[in-house]
Amino acid sequence: MTIVRFAPSPTGRIHIGNARTAILNWLMAQKTGGAFVLRYDDTDTARSTQDFADGIAADIAWLGIVPARVEWQSKRFGRYDEIANRLRAEGRLYPCYETADELDRKRKRQEARKLPPVYDRAGLKLTGEDRARLDAEGRKPHWRFRLDGRVVTWNDLIRGPQHIDTTTLSDPVLVREDGTYLYTLPSVIDDIDFGITHVIRGEDHVVNTAVQIEITEALGGKVPDYAHHSLLTGADGKGLSKRLGSLSIASMRENGLEPMAVVSHAALLGTSDNIHPCQDYSELVAGFALDKLSRAPARFDEKELLALNAKLLHHMPWDNVKDRLPGVTEAFWLAIRGNVEKLSDWHLWHRVVAGEVAPVVAEEDRAFIAEARTLLPPEPWDTTSWKTWTDAVKAATGRKGKPLFMPLRLALTGLDHGPELAQLLPLMGRETALERLS
Ligand code: GLU
Repeated sequence: MTIVRFAPSPTGRIHIGNARTAILNWLMAQKTGGAFVLRYDDTDTARSTQDFADGIAADIAWLGIVPARVEWQSKRFGRYDEIANRLRAEGRLYPCYETADELDRKRKRQEARKLPPVYDRAGLKLTGEDRARLDAEGRKPHWRFRLDGRVVTWNDLIRGPQHIDTTTLSDPVLVREDGTYLYTLPSVIDDIDFGITHVIRGEDHVVNTAVQIEITEALGGKVPDYAHHSLLTGADGKGLSKRLGSLSIASMRENGLEPMAVVSHAALLGTSDNIHPCQDYSELVAGFALDKLSRAPARFDEKELLALNAKLLHHMPWDNVKDRLPGVTEAFWLAIRGNVEKLSDWHLWHRVVAGEVAPVVAEEDRAFIAEARTLLPPEPWDTTSWKTWTDAVKAATGRKGKPLFMPLRLALTGLDHGPELAQLLPLMGRETALERLS
């Protein structure tokens, strides 16, 4: 069974880029009948908060994603300690005592000699005596994973065959001086323990993957399939990660965007499919394939998302909105949906149909409107009543085209644009029409 995970750090809310990762994982799970695990990467206990975690859960739920399981790294430190001790005993995790300054000086010396800035493994050469002396001085080690120093390969499900020579990498620090874990090791342990079959994440993790494959193998785990998607850029071509604002899922929700507009946009951006609105996940799931994702960075433009939101609403079936439109009918929705960009725009059209409007009548149209008023057909009205009426007005006044229709629209709605009057008129009713035309 396919098991995927989305692993945000609850040190902030998620933005459209993270949401895209979540959605791709969700599509993978849906496509394969697999499970989606939400894993909070909260090893940084100082910066992680419950509020952010709750917010992320709400964002995920709003996007229609239902995790089969929720896990917290902060609840698993005992497990990480157990594995770290095993790696220490096997000599794969070794203590290093350099301070940040010392490491910096080493790097500068390497740079000066045009050597790659790779950690020199001085920690590996420490004798028991050296360590005892350093410990006696009260210095605390951080712990590095001894890389095999080989070419790690995998067949990335998006990027194709990958080769990373780990001799070009520094042995990664997995445990800090204070005993806390960097993300690298807990992530591997969790992926193994939770049976993750596919890791779908941003390409900023490609190099981590080489390291994580080595760690997985050192732990005797089964290496999952990896798929690294390209990152989103803004309309200006710059990366998104450092800016949140209107890009956060929370703000999209507050701004009245439809979740399926966000989902459709995020799921189809950077794929070989056209970006188009999908009313629910089924179509996206049916068309989903990782190899449709391009390796090139995908451009996210808020304006395109807004346009997609409008398109989604223009075709949205009544069943998908009725719970959010109190006190109106399906006929009303079908009449106005082509004229909303955000669902909240329905209020405007509701006022036009049933509330107060200020009719607009130009001086030269007064007599025309007065005459049209006398020609309003008797109720009951349906969508043919508008034609019946305007045919009569046309015959009586000789007006046609815009000079016929626009003054009627302005008088009835106070606006020069809007849904078809054939639809609006029966919703308005004769009494309201009579009043506005007077
Ligand atoms: N917490 C990591 C991140 O947000 C997860 C990366 C991963 O999926 O392994 O970048």
